[in-house]
Amino acid sequence: MAESMQGLKRSHRCTEVTTAMVGEKVTVMGWVAKQRNKGGIVFVDLRDRSGILQIIFEDTKSGTECFEKAAKLRSEFVIAVEGTVEKREGAVNPNLATGEIEIIATSLRILSEAQTPPFPIEENSKTKEEIRLKYRYLDLRRPDLQRNLILKSQVATIARSFMAEQGFLEIETPMLCKSTPEGARDYLVPSRVHPGTFYALPQSPQIFKQLLMCSGYDRYFQIARCFRDEDLRADRQPEFTQMDMELSFVDVDDVIDVNERLLQKIFKDVLDIDIELPIQRMTWQEAMDRYGSDKPDLRFDIELKDITEVVKNSEFVVFKNAIENGGTVRGINAVGQGAMPRKKIDALVEFAKTYGAKGLAYIAINEDNTFKSSFAKFMTDEEMAAIIEAMDGKAGDLLLFAADKNKVVWDTLGALRCHLADMMGLLDKNVFRFVWITEFPLLEWSEEQNRFTAMHHPFTMPMEEDLQFIDTDPGKVRAKAYDIVLNGNEIGGGSVRIHQDDIQEKMFECLGFTKEQAYERFGFLLDAFKYGVPPHAGLAYGLDRLAMLMAKQDSIRDVIAFPKIKDASCLMTNAPDVVDDVQLEELCIKLDTKNEEE
Ligand code: ASP
Repeated sequence: MAESMQGLKRSHRCTEVTTAMVGEKVTVMGWVAKQRNKGGIVFVDLRDRSGILQIIFEDTKSGTECFEKAAKLRSEFVIAVEGTVEKREGAVNPNLATGEIEIIATSLRILSEAQTPPFPIEENSKTKEEIRLKYRYLDLRRPDLQRNLILKSQVATIARSFMAEQGFLEIETPMLCKSTPEGARDYLVPSRVHPGTFYALPQSPQIFKQLLMCSGYDRYFQIARCFRDEDLRADRQPEFTQMDMELSFVDVDDVIDVNERLLQKIFKDVLDIDIELPIQRMTWQEAMDRYGSDKPDLRFDIELKDITEVVKNSEFVVFKNAIENGGTVRGINAVGQGAMPRKKIDALVEFAKTYGAKGLAYIAINEDNTFKSSFAKFMTDEEMAAIIEAMDGKAGDLLLFAADKNKVVWDTLGALRCHLADMMGLLDKNVFRFVWITEFPLLEWSEEQNRFTAMHHPFTMPMEEDLQFIDTDPGKVRAKAYDIVLNGNEIGGGSVRIHQDDIQEKMFECLGFTKEQAYERFGFLLDAFKYGVPPHAGLAYGLDRLAMLMAKQDSIRDVIAFPKIKDASCLMTNAPDVVDDVQLEELCIKLDTKNEEE
């Protein structure tokens, strides 16, 4: 039968017991990670969220009753042990924080028995993720996940206290909001009291934090849950957490300054890593030209080179067509990869096609400086030599080229350089390379919607010097927007906001909204701006992604206690699920899921 606490108090977590405490009495509680019965002596590895501590039950020292109870212990039983700290008599375990000590138990309580878990509770589990997520409460006992969640909690705590020191107020914004679709799809919540109407769950606290600036709370901070009903993507979660902030009476540099110091503090306190300030800055244009990405991974060097000029007179149709259609020809140099077997190069071509490229052209330079190439037969010797020179190609290098519209070339080569770096073992998780990307385009042309959409959001301020193009060439206008990028991941982004009526109206016009449509969606914000609004700017981090990188994990699921899988369902609770007819009736909702069922 399970025993209860009955006044017993835990004195230490497992790894709080140290060598300096030899001879002291302690009371520890946790889960049995392992039990080994070696005749007259029972060894137990006791586990709690801090780590492992070895407990010894010996007939003579622990007493017969205690010893016999210990002999019955099995994995995952929850126990409380009173005992004395001693130096280990047996082998010291250098892999454990408590590897030099053990507890000689004097009493044992079994607080809960346990069935055999469906998979072993161990570091670096080999169990399939689906099974682990179904039993997430067991998966969460594993030391790696415990470390990840502890790290994430530390990040949040440090951020809160740093922001408070800097004069930020933590203010909550609503979860039940008005739907203002722009960007991702909203999650909707039906209203019972107002049948036929819906709230939306926030995609971010954006509008509310701007309203708080109108209300004079000049520095706002919140760790806020956000919801986006996006299509299935590998490492996205329908709900995720932002570290969100907004500041009044500031410009780009002020936001960057406070955030650099915040990041410096977080990395120092959590990982003991020094981030040198100021963090490098790069314009969007430079990032695209050099790395083919607005979130460049700067841990390795491979850069894009534009060879359009070099090949502009070539008869090779792939290059020729791309240039004639207003595109470019660009390449990357995979240094030292010239001996890559044909099969692997073909795999790179297939990889490139998933980014919209029709193919990849290549030159593999042999050690004797001869080369193999997929397109040499269409080129003159001089042209080939000029290309190799422009690419800084040396013996043993592999040069890869894409020719298409700029966006396709950037996307393809941007992804390819990371893919190659991964193959070449250049992605060191212990290296943290930050870069600010600035001066993003304000607008982005959407082929699908046949109109401009906001690259960041409709409240982002254009750069003053580009306002002159807003009527004639809106695509050319740059924004006062910035992203903070870490190792090829956008960990945060923000912008200076528009606080002038006329510019905001222009922006809505560019986005194809009539005045009425803009008012219908954002009227309360536009009205608020009529009553005195300070210049303001802000930024939000994806806390999950930041924690994932700091914890050196590959998936944000590994830093979220109860994550959903790719199709947005929860394997443990089975959410989303059907509801009672009564609930639907109350909400005046009739289902029409026939087509779905078919
Ligand atoms: N609300 C923005 C976002 O979610 C961030 C910001 O502009 O502050 O991307």
